[in-house]
Amino acid sequence: MISIIVPCYNEEATIKIFLKEISKTEMLISEKYHESFEYIFIDDGSTDNTLDILKGCGVKYISFSRNFGKEAGLYAGLRAAKGDYVAVMDVDLQDPPELLVDMYESLLSGEYDCAATRRSTRKGEPKIRSFFAKCFYKLINKISDTEIVDGARDYRLMTRRMVDAILSVKEYNRFSKGLFSWVGFKTKWFEYENIERSAGYTKWSFKKLFLYSIDGMMSFSVVPLALASIVGMIMCFASIMMVLIIIAKTLIWGDPVAGYPSMICVILFLSGMQMLFIGILGQYLAKTYLETKSRPVYVVRDSNIDKPY
Ligand code: UDP
Ligand code: MG
Repeated sequence: MISIIVPCYNEEATIKIFLKEISKTEMLISEKYHESFEYIFIDDGSTDNTLDILKGCGVKYISFSRNFGKEAGLYAGLRAAKGDYVAVMDVDLQDPPELLVDMYESLLSGEYDCAATRRSTRKGEPKIRSFFAKCFYKLINKISDTEIVDGARDYRLMTRRMVDAILSVKEYNRFSKGLFSWVGFKTKWFEYENIERSAGYTKWSFKKLFLYSIDGMMSFSVVPLALASIVGMIMCFASIMMVLIIIAKTLIWGDPVAGYPSMICVILFLSGMQMLFIGILGQYLAKTYLETKSRPVYVVRDSNIDKPY
């Protein structure tokens, strides 16, 4: 069986279109390989008619008590999925369903445990967004041991082995793009050009994306924490040099003490640095704090699955 997990947040406009498209792919695969399909929709605290539409479509659904974010939705779906293969897909058709056939076939030989997708272009996306996305991938790959592939989408098909591995990671701050890569397994990549939404509007504001990128970097790197020590060492060295220079200057030329403005600049710069690093420290502390509380990642309000968690 193939489980298809679809997170939805205010997607009343797109669900029906999605089901119509995916049913074609389902026909192709089930006729050729006799696979059955299971659809698990996660209603991530939608405020529109998403839940009513899901109830009318005869699919499995899990409805959250509020908006917990796409990561929580994916996690809930992966936990509920019973299939031997599990696919994760957006509902807006930006993840082309027809590609699933190729993805499925690539896993059949048993060589790969994951068929993943990436966008080869970002056309149709605001320029500034693409720019920041590029910067993000550059930075995170510099500071993290886990490779985060540029342009990788969450759209992927995984074997049961891999899904179980992902579920065994119990952390609260879940950054799937990193987790998928962290658990390892051989991945076959499929590329396609960016496709625009079938209907509705994007749920990711720039602010949401920015915070998400910070989350990602903090989840998969501790380099920012080490930065303080490095900068501190450089500054210690610089200050020793300064002391030597000043002593030498005073001995040779007998310079009087001067430079109130420059001193203020230095003080401001240093206290700014200190605040910055205390801030970084605080962010990690906050993450650790949330992690130790071990709150559930999501809360279910309604579902037609026996045991949604
Ligand atoms: N989504 C979600 N919870 C959220 C935000 C988004 O479940 O808080 C879902 C959304 O319904 C869609 C997928 O995540 O199926 C991707 O979102 P969207 O298409 O808005 O993002 P974009 O493709 O613009 O990055
Ligand atoms: Mg989308």
